[in-house]
Order: sequence, then structure tokens, then C-alpha cells
Amino acid sequence: MIVTIMKFGGTSVGSAEALKRVAKIIIEKDGGKVVVVSAMSGITNFLIGTMENGFKDPEGAAKLFYDRHMDVAEKLFEGKALESYKKDLNERLGLMKKLMLDGEAQKDPYFEDLFISQGERFSSLTLAHLIRTMGFESVALTSEEAGIFAEGRPLNGTADLDKTSLKINMVVKPMLQNGIIPVISGYYGVTDNGKVLTFGRGGSDYAAAAIGNAMNASSVEIWTDVNGFMSADPRVVPNAKTIKEMNYSEAGELAYFGAKVLHPRTIEPVRRKHIPLWIKNSYDPSNCGTVIHNLSRRSDNKLLKSVAMKVDLSIITVSAADIAYRPIIVARIVEKLADAGVAVYAISTSLSTIAFLIHNLDVKQTLKNLNLLDSKDIERIDVKSNVALVCAVGDSLLSYQGFSGDVFGAVKEVGANVEMISEGASDVSLNFVVPTDSVTDVVKVLHQKFIVGEGI
Ligand code: ADP
Ligand code: ASP
Ligand code: MG
Repeated sequence: MIVTIMKFGGTSVGSAEALKRVAKIIIEKDGGKVVVVSAMSGITNFLIGTMENGFKDPEGAAKLFYDRHMDVAEKLFEGKALESYKKDLNERLGLMKKLMLDGEAQKDPYFEDLFISQGERFSSLTLAHLIRTMGFESVALTSEEAGIFAEGRPLNGTADLDKTSLKINMVVKPMLQNGIIPVISGYYGVTDNGKVLTFGRGGSDYAAAAIGNAMNASSVEIWTDVNGFMSADPRVVPNAKTIKEMNYSEAGELAYFGAKVLHPRTIEPVRRKHIPLWIKNSYDPSNCGTVIHNLSRRSDNKLLKSVAMKVDLSIITVSAADIAYRPIIVARIVEKLADAGVAVYAISTSLSTIAFLIHNLDVKQTLKNLNLLDSKDIERIDVKSNVALVCAVGDSLLSYQGFSGDVFGAVKEVGANVEMISEGASDVSLNFVVPTDSVTDVVKVLHQKFIVGEGI
């Protein structure tokens, strides 16, 4: 059977009108379909805010949650259908209220994951009810029920594809064979010990890719609020254009280095099984969108395809005499970074220094760990905050002579200082670091020169 995984993001399920459009898209799709949803737009931020507030007003928070969902439901359902939805909603809300009041549960290191995953449990319910009122069989499943397994540290889960495959094919496949449309909550999986573990912000894309991998899907569709993967973030570069085709490496690099349209880890599960990944606009379903697949030829005549940026980063520079000749010190530094569990976005070395690019939020823990190193090995540790990474991607970029020179010439034109360069690690991308206050100018000038204009 042809199986399509269809994932709908927060704005696509954020209002009654949006949900109606989404239900139509699902119903009109041929073959077996597995739906994955994000929470309604704003809901995950609301949950995080409620938690950060120390659950000061659980009743008020529950009421706001109820009102937001009922406001939408009253526009979608009436009579018995509305009553049945209300019953399910209240049941889930009861569980959520309990969490807000349970001081003991709140001490669990995975509690935040459990609490902030609540939004997806509600949006899946609403969409399944809506599909049913339209005359099709549909069941809302939490990730626990569907069988999405995860492992790793809190708020940073990795899908366990083998375990997910075993269970999801047992639970979800028979539903498809019986003509049922399962609507699964995205964003998280469950550990072997039954703990809820989220995949990081925007994680429903990754959940959909993991389900696609587990079920050997024919394709995975990410339905969002723009026409596909674009040549830059359209909020930064208003004349950014949609890219029709990309290969997995190009999309993977861009997502990892800041293109918010895809969760940074979405590509790997689909790449492993050569599953095409589509990015489509739920507001304009007839637009062809972007397909990401094994693309061996250049799809257009431009060398540069897209530019992404990642802000809120810091450079940590560790100085030690002759570090280049003392690999054991490098090994110890890297070990300390691994202990801190931080993602390193770039590394650069010289004779007596090694510099790492990491997220601002990881600086404190990283310094704490690095300070455990033997002081006779390390001379100094410096931190430079407020930097941003620019990631320029295109097919075989580095085989084009003079490419970096042309790019840095353009960067110089906007007066930005390049703080760090990472080139050569992947042949589809050139990454470099600039001060945060000049990053949008840099992205705009690269886009204008090399994507819109005649450059390269
Ligand atoms: P969803 O809620 O559907 O998951 P997101 O907000 O996570 O949607 O991602 C879609 C947004 O990503 C777009 O509205 C756009 O502003 C932003 N974006 C950033 N970079 C790109 C890019 N290269 N192509 C398309 N959209 C991008
Ligand atoms: N709702 C989660 C978030 O806002 C996950 C997602 O939307 O993919 O990050
Ligand atoms: Mg998203």
C-alpha cells in the first residue's frame, strides 16, 4: 500500500479555518495516510510560560487552554459531535491539570518534556474529530499509543527508529488497512522507561520523518505556511523564492544551520530510506512546493541555492601553548564539551588556540566543564557572545574556483567582520560567523548578489 506521512505545523492547525483546509487536504489524498500534528500555534510557548511561572495559577491556565480549544471547536462542531469533543477535551484537560498540581512529578528530570508535549495531544484530538464529522474514520493517537520511541537527554530526544518501526507497524498499519486515518501527536517520543521525551523545538517534523522511516513510507509531506523551502527566510528576505528540488545534503545543512522551515534533524530518517520529503503550503495546496530527494544533477543554473542564519551563538576560544602539537589536550577539551552535551556548530584551530561555536544557552555549562581541565594545560578561555552563523548552500560549491573570495567580497561591502570560517567539511556549504547585528545585512547581500542577481 502507498503510505504518505502528512505533518501539519502549528499555524496549519491554529484556527477553525486552517483546520478545515487541512482536513480537506487529508481527505483528498489517495492511499494510506498517517497524519502528524504540531500543537496549535502559540500553545507550546504558552505551556513553557506557564511552567516558567511556577504554575502559579493552574485554574487560570487550564481555563485559557480550554477556551482556546473550545473557541475553535464551536466553529467546527455542533450537537452530538460538539458534546463528544467536549468530553474528550475535558478528559485530557483533567490530566493536564493534575500535572500542574503534582509537586512530586515536577521533580522528575523529564517533567518539562511531559508538560510541554501537552499541546500536541489536544490538536490531534481536534483534527481526528473533524475528519470524523466529515464522514471518514479517524483516530487520535498520542505518541505513546502510536509507538514512537526516543532516547537521550531531556528536551533533546533522538528517535529510536528500530523500536518505533516494530510498534508502529503493529499499531498503525492495521488501521490503514481498515481505512482509518490515524492522527498522531508529533514533537515527542517515549523512552524505554516510559518517560516522555521531546525532540526539541519544532520537533514534529522530525517525528514525521521518523514515522516515515519506520513505516517505509512512499513520501513524507511537511505542510506549513510558506510555499516550500525557500532561498532564504522570507521574513528576512521578502523576495526569497521557492526552490523546486533539493538534495538531502543541501536541505540537511540548511536545517541544521538555521532554516526554521525544517527541524534540524528531519533529513536523516528519510535519507536513510531514500524517502522523498515534500514541503508544501497548507494555505495554497495546489502550489507544487519543494521536493527533497536524491538529486544528482544541478536543478538550476545558479550555484548558490539558499542562505540560512543562526543567531544567539558564542565563540569559546581556549588558548594553550602549542596546542596543535598536543592532541591529548584537544581530546580532553572535546571530552568536556561532550560531557556538557552541547552541539558544536563550528571548530577552528591555530597553533595555540582552539575555538568552538556553540549556543549562548550552553556557554555556562561549557565553561563550568572546561574549568575542570588542568590549569597547567590551559592558558586562557575567552568567550565572544552575540555572534551569528551564516550558512550558504549550493551543489558542489567548493569545486567552483573563487567562490569564497566572491562571497567574502560581498560580506565586506556591508562592513561585516568575519569572525570564524568553516569551509570544506561539506562540499555543499560554506559557513562563517559574523556579529549578530550585521547578520541580516549579510544574508540579504548574498541573496541579492548570488541568487537574485548575476553573481556566480
Ligand atoms: P510550522 O509551524 O508549520 O512547523 P515553522 O514556523 O516551524 O512552521 O516553519 C515555517 C517558517 O520557517 C516560515 O514561515 C518561514 O518564516 C521560516 N523559514 C526560515 N527559513 C526558511 C526557508 N529557507 N524557507 C522557508 N521558510 C523558512
Ligand atoms: N509544538 C512544538 C513547538 O512549538 C513542536 C512543533 O511545532 O513541531 O516547538
Ligand atoms: Mg516547524
